[in-house]
Amino acid sequence: VTRTGEPAVIAVDLGGTRLRAALVAGGRVVRRREQATQPAHGAGAWIEAMAALVEDWRGQAGALGIATTGVIRDGRWFALNPEVLPVPAGFALVTELECRLGLPVQATNDGHAAAWGEFRHGSGQGSGSCICLTISTGIGGGIVMDGRLQRGGAGLAGSLGHVLADPAGPRCGCGKVGCLEAIASGGALEVMAREGGYPTPVRAGPAWAERLLDRSAQAVARALCDLRALIDPEIVVLGGGLGLSNGFIERVRRGLESHPRIFRPRLEKAALGGDAGLIGAADLALAA
Ligand SMILES: [Zn+2]
Repeated sequence: VTRTGEPAVIAVDLGGTRLRAALVAGGRVVRRREQATQPAHGAGAWIEAMAALVEDWRGQAGALGIATTGVIRDGRWFALNPEVLPVPAGFALVTELECRLGLPVQATNDGHAAAWGEFRHGSGQGSGSCICLTISTGIGGGIVMDGRLQRGGAGLAGSLGHVLADPAGPRCGCGKVGCLEAIASGGALEVMAREGGYPTPVRAGPAWAERLLDRSAQAVARALCDLRALIDPEIVVLGGGLGLSNGFIERVRRGLESHPRIFRPRLEKAALGGDAGLIGAADLALAA
């Protein structure tokens, strides 16, 4: 419990590249730790790594919120793109963590958690509806409408990485062809750079890198206009390592200029930066 009387919550963000943990109170990260994710080690090892990372915070927290890639349905975990993290279908994520840590656990898709974090404590504050697009190794999304996080019938709502960006595009790790994630994500840029014989990570500057980054930003801009037509959110929040990288949001704004004004959304950077998922997961665990 913090000085303000608000209980602290442990938040964990398990992605395909990094495992991050934080102690969160009052919508702010008060302590943090991180290490590399070991995707090949399997779900049992991921549980152990998470538990070890937060072990000494257990006495200070009333609950644990986990944000992770894939679909969460009734506490069970399924992969959407197994190339990001090979999640065993139906893994009992909540039960496993609760047994290991002795704390109540709330699990949320990482794109959902980031959208909720930005809506509650970041750039979406004060809006009635907010969509968050997290562009990093993969692409996550989350929709808050009328003040409520939209999970959908099967936990799939807001999976914006898997909307169609280009029917002639490459096959996505989810099995569909031409998904936004397969064209515009950081992971997709790395694949395309390697295929072209260029060095990675992709950084702005050389003509080939500018082409890849513009292609990504234009695909994102098209998807945002489709979202405006579909949902018409008051604000779209852009986050993630690539989304927040230098100049990327300006590229997307330039991409939007080629579309009719009425479909261009109000676009802002994630105010919580890389912490949106942690803070959202903590908030959802507190409310559960
Ligand atoms: Zn896909």
